[in-house]
Amino acid sequence: MFGLELDRLSKQYPGHLAVDDVSLSIPHGQFVCFLGPSGCGKTTLMRMIAGLEEPTSGTISLNGRDITQEPPNVRKFGMVFQSLALFPHLSVGENIAFSLRLQGRDARVRRERVAELLKLVRLPGFEKRAISELSGGQRQRVAIARALAQEPQEYLLDEPFSALDAKLREEMQAELRQLQAELKITTILVTHDQREAMTLADSIVVMGDGRIQQQGAPADIYRAPANRFVANFVGLSNLLSVEVLDHQTVQLGARVLKVASVADPRTAGQAMLSIRPENVRLADPATGLEDDNVIAGRVTSVRDMGSNLEVILECDGGRLLTVVHARDWRGAGAGDVAHIWLPQDYCRVLAA
Ligand code: ATP
Repeated sequence: MFGLELDRLSKQYPGHLAVDDVSLSIPHGQFVCFLGPSGCGKTTLMRMIAGLEEPTSGTISLNGRDITQEPPNVRKFGMVFQSLALFPHLSVGENIAFSLRLQGRDARVRRERVAELLKLVRLPGFEKRAISELSGGQRQRVAIARALAQEPQEYLLDEPFSALDAKLREEMQAELRQLQAELKITTILVTHDQREAMTLADSIVVMGDGRIQQQGAPADIYRAPANRFVANFVGLSNLLSVEVLDHQTVQLGARVLKVASVADPRTAGQAMLSIRPENVRLADPATGLEDDNVIAGRVTSVRDMGSNLEVILECDGGRLLTVVHARDWRGAGAGDVAHIWLPQDYCRVLAA
């Protein structure tokens, strides 16, 4: 395959299995985000791809060639890692030009390229600055520029924007996405920020407990989380205890509800119905409970967010959060009973 291929990769630290049997194909030119909570193994996986950590088992191939034993400098990946600090004795400009110097580019080309990259990372004119004179966010941006100067075919980024404020982070994300699409650099970015993953990635790899929990396009992962872990980690999800009756119906308290799908066909008995807050509708009070997928719930709190209201209800099976447009709100308050519509298309069933 043209691209990166991980085959049954594991990393065992003394007493801790950090990466557990991960297989993954990343086609050339794709932007992939490894997304997961702290400690799930995403940095370890990335360090193995970079050649900074030796796998306990499994192989890594690039364009069909086994590179598992190749040292990092031979892999020639562009890398931005917390552990790969800038060279403290070199200026900003010299740091960025480092790989160009190794390639034997002449001084004028180096100067022009450094100026161009500094503009890109919003640090024009910083060539002569010492690394010790930079803030954490400025260092991150110099590291991004240094990695880009290599014009790598593969780009590995571990939380590259973590030290930037929200506005600069969004600007840098947009720049990176545009550059990546133009140059078709295969890019892997590690983040625990689901918003960052959703806006940047062609494909998200959700990790939990050293394993891949789900991989797919951002919209698919959001719409159809494969399990409870993903439903909870990517966006907000309501999870109600239900009993599976068949592949399209579940029992919630005394009500039988129709669902779009049971995520895992082996799911039987007790399970969780998952539905996103924006898909839970408050039904007209005149709507009878005999209507399909309408249930009763007691309002426990209403939070006015301006254009929207966040309403929390208690119903059979658990707590439900719904987001209601202000103009659709009929003014029920805490303690009132409301009728709630759970549209079938948005109801997914996950193993309990
Ligand atoms: P974070 O977002 O906090 O950086 P992560 O998902 O990148 O987390 P890793 O750094 O890959 O997580 O660590 C995965 C697990 O392996 C953690 O439980 C960590 O404590 C453990 N670990 C990492 N490096 C080592 C090491 N050198 N020796 C032993 N255990 C390690």
